[in-house]
Amino acid sequence: MPRLVLLGKQGAGKGTQAGRLADHFGVVHLSTGEIFRAQASLGTAFGLEAKRYMDSGDLVPDEIVVGVIDECLAPGGPLEDGFVLDGFPRTLYQAQELDRVLDGRPLDLAINLDVPREIVLDRLAGRRVCDNCQRVYHVNLPPSNDWICDTCGGPVVQRDDDTEEAIDRRLELYEQETVPIIEYYRAKGMLAEVDGVGEGDKVFDRLVNAVNEHASANDSV
Ligand code: ADP
Repeated sequence: MPRLVLLGKQGAGKGTQAGRLADHFGVVHLSTGEIFRAQASLGTAFGLEAKRYMDSGDLVPDEIVVGVIDECLAPGGPLEDGFVLDGFPRTLYQAQELDRVLDGRPLDLAINLDVPREIVLDRLAGRRVCDNCQRVYHVNLPPSNDWICDTCGGPVVQRDDDTEEAIDRRLELYEQETVPIIEYYRAKGMLAEVDGVGEGDKVFDRLVNAVNEHASANDSV
């Protein structure tokens, strides 16, 4: 069962594609952003603390994030039988901590889903998300019925951190904190680059091919 990390700018399509990849390979999709948003809407102390950082586009401190991942990745935990990580790791420190926690069960592949800045800016500014099932829409491609989700009937809204200021801050932090991770995985021979521009189904096929090609080259998965 593959152990994958999906990297990419905000708005690259990581969330959607990570979910599809996880279904395809029969493993768990884990999004740290989703965990934080769910906890924030439940109003837990942990969620409200995370929300303070998220709403301004800042990163949640490493200690908090690593604590969450540590529990999920512990032997016998929910990620024991393979996973697609989405939104983690996001700093070099988190990448090193991930290696530590995975001790003896290394990642198979980190995939950089590459989309140019102009495209993600447009996607993020127009992005609307179902508050219930997280399905992603765009103002130019809304649900068929008055911002009610086509899939689950939930309300389709703008994310609190999809404001212009928070988007700028998130993209700036991506360059500073997350881009170094791409080099970290490249140096380990564990990186695949996938073009994230184009129709969702085509991007998905490219991702599946990248995983399968890497697996046959390494005779694993
Ligand atoms: P995006 O990639 O569009 O910013 P996510 O849902 O992945 O969306 O993350 C939303 C927010 O959650 C981030 O801006 C950050 O505040 C917080 N977050 C998620 N994952 C991490 C992480 N690994 N480290 C620090 N903060 C995180």
